[in-house]
Amino acid sequence: MPFTPIHLGFAIFLFSVLPFLDPIALLIGTVIIDLEPIFYLITGIGQMHGIMHSTLGVLVFFIPTSFISWLCYRFVKLEKFFPKFNIYLSLLSGIVGLFSHVIFDGILYSEIMFLYPFSMQAGMLHNMIPYSAVYWILGSMFIVGMLVLGLRYYLRYLQKKKSTKQSDLIGREDD
Ligand SMILES: [Zn+2]
Repeated sequence: MPFTPIHLGFAIFLFSVLPFLDPIALLIGTVIIDLEPIFYLITGIGQMHGIMHSTLGVLVFFIPTSFISWLCYRFVKLEKFFPKFNIYLSLLSGIVGLFSHVIFDGILYSEIMFLYPFSMQAGMLHNMIPYSAVYWILGSMFIVGMLVLGLRYYLRYLQKKKSTKQSDLIGREDD
């Protein structure tokens, strides 16, 4: 928070270079921790970046993240576009996405206790790299990831078109 969607850049980039990962768990993982500030803004309970913006948050959310992905796979035919659902890769993708959120927010905000509950130290990652660099990195990841994915799906589309043409030709020769 307050720029939750920019975290998606990490998920898109990672899936574009590691296409065996679970893209849904990655996408959800990179943003779900911001339920904490949303909850805070609505109810006034807790903090903007409290105990969920930490290793604890990763531990709390990694199973629900994969579960939501599994639900998406179950009810929408995602296998047509994405790799088949694999529980281990899904959990791994969730953990990576969640940690990326905590790490990037940890660099941006001084109040984040990255290792909570193992350590109460706040600001461990704060200003590790400049504030603007985080936005620059996440924004670039978004653009590069989208380009790589676009190219990947376009090539796959061409390949498919070529193979259906070939099978059409073979079919005609058989007639
Ligand atoms: Zn956050």
